[in-house]
Amino acid sequence: MAAVMRLVNRSYLSSAMGQKYVAFSSTAKVKAAGVRAGQALPEKVKIVEVGPRDGLQNEKTMVPTETKINLIDMLSASGLPVIEATSFVSPKWVPQMADQVEVMKGIDRKPGVSYPVLTPNLKGFQAAIKAGASEVAIFGAASELFSKKNINCSVDESLQRFDEVMKAAKEFGVPVRGYVSCVLGCPYEGKVAPEKVAHVAKRLYSMGCYEISLGDTIGVGTPGSMSKMLEAVSREVPVNALAVHCHDTYGQALANILVALQMGISVVDSSVAGLGGCPYAQGASGNVATEDVVYMLHGLGIQTGVDLSKLMDAGAFICRTLNRKTNSKVAQATCKL
Ligand SMILES: [Zn+2]
Repeated sequence: MAAVMRLVNRSYLSSAMGQKYVAFSSTAKVKAAGVRAGQALPEKVKIVEVGPRDGLQNEKTMVPTETKINLIDMLSASGLPVIEATSFVSPKWVPQMADQVEVMKGIDRKPGVSYPVLTPNLKGFQAAIKAGASEVAIFGAASELFSKKNINCSVDESLQRFDEVMKAAKEFGVPVRGYVSCVLGCPYEGKVAPEKVAHVAKRLYSMGCYEISLGDTIGVGTPGSMSKMLEAVSREVPVNALAVHCHDTYGQALANILVALQMGISVVDSSVAGLGGCPYAQGASGNVATEDVVYMLHGLGIQTGVDLSKLMDAGAFICRTLNRKTNSKVAQATCKL
């Protein structure tokens, strides 16, 4: 590992990557604002591990509670600062998350690590608090059609539904993270206007979410569309309150994350072993793999606090248990089997 983990001079690498980007964008007619060569990168990046929730919720067969708990404990041991543990949605909607209380009670909570859970409504929030959750997340879409088709209401109406959750969270002093989905494309609407993403992100931020995670839910974004979208959103929400959540459907996730880093974002969502498919494109890869993100960040000289080899142990464990191949390129490259 030591040979491949050799640190690369950061300014050299960012300038090399900046040049590559400009070459790419010249055909895509993209304004390269904010992604100039040599732009400063953050010294530290906070990784939000979403594998146990966003990843496993896409698994068709039921994953035993014990496996989920073991996975979360192994992820905690790797040094990850945030691990999204489960979701307090109705088991009717997401049967895979029906064991949310057992998971929350079974995990070994490492001091300093946050274990947020998804709470779609007040009932979910109350159950989450009862189960010991100390951070929650809510979600809105940037696409009207996605919102209408999925939850049968407009984007603004869907956000109003979170009012009660936000009020309760304030009362309990529980921090709330906001997700925006479909920020770079929608399976029904196609392109999504950056201004629409900015509007939803601003709403979530002004409702009191401390961090807004911008999700390329179907993984169609490119460094070009990512930089345009981030430009629009960062006019409305401070960049230090933004995170990116990239799916690798079209193989663009790492490039998109690099652009986000160059634009000052220092929070990245990812999923161990790239767990999680894409419900709108069968066979397509899901969330960007945490191993690959950590490898890239360490290669850029950026601190994450994550021990890559322990993280890979967690990835190997869940792939072995689910009897599937890892989606992490780094794990594939170093696989001895
Ligand atoms: Zn995702």
